Amino acid sequence: MSTRNAPMKAQRAPAADPAIREPFSCEVQRSKRKTLALYVKPEKVIVRVPLDASKTEVKEFVQSNRAWIESRLAEESARQDERLVIEHGRRIFYRARELEIVFKQGRKQRIIADGNQFIFQGQHLTPSKARVQLEDYLIDKASHYIVPRAKGLARYLGVDQKISQIKLRKTKSKWGHCTSQGVLQFNWLIMLAPYGIIDYMIAHEVCHLIHMNHSKRFWLLVNSVCPEYENYIRWLKENEHRFWF
Ligand SMILES: [Zn+2]
Repeated sequence: MSTRNAPMKAQRAPAADPAIREPFSCEVQRSKRKTLALYVKPEKVIVRVPLDASKTEVKEFVQSNRAWIESRLAEESARQDERLVIEHGRRIFYRARELEIVFKQGRKQRIIADGNQFIFQGQHLTPSKARVQLEDYLIDKASHYIVPRAKGLARYLGVDQKISQIKLRKTKSKWGHCTSQGVLQFNWLIMLAPYGIIDYMIAHEVCHLIHMNHSKRFWLLVNSVCPEYENYIRWLKENEHRFWF
């Protein structure tokens, strides 16, 4: 299951067009394609065009979509501001609640989510130490929650024999993955999300053990074990940028 509205990789043209002059930086990528398309990244706008598109055509296309580009850029910049930064006094979006990050001196190293605070306790805490602490905390939570639940759901669906391995990994832009060899992979960052979201992600990957695609039958199966899945997909789209650190 891939995340973020990252576009597919495009072939770069050998000769690059000069960037279009706009209030935003706009990169033109030519490839064997039939239509023009825009992709807004936090730092730039990419316009993908067919090999034979004229400069005027490209310019007009960008101009006519200017309002949309600007609103998307504003959205991306707001998302950048919401990124998780592990420092005392910052905020963390944990289980759909905004908590204040507190570094607390203490002999015992631990993390406590308490009321409105997300407390990192340890000796001489620094942001990098706290970061490692949070990684360990989430990996531990994932191994105790995701692994047994994935196995349990697979057993319920009669496909537990198909699982060859369950991996927990932090990947750049994916929440989960399932291979035809029965390897289930989950991104442990999802442990920052509410349980409904985590359960949806588990259901999604386990259902791939039966349907290795996103066909109608696949989604019917997901729906049978996770009827709220459409809400969870929407929630993830709106909030997942707040989890990566
Ligand atoms: Zn999938």
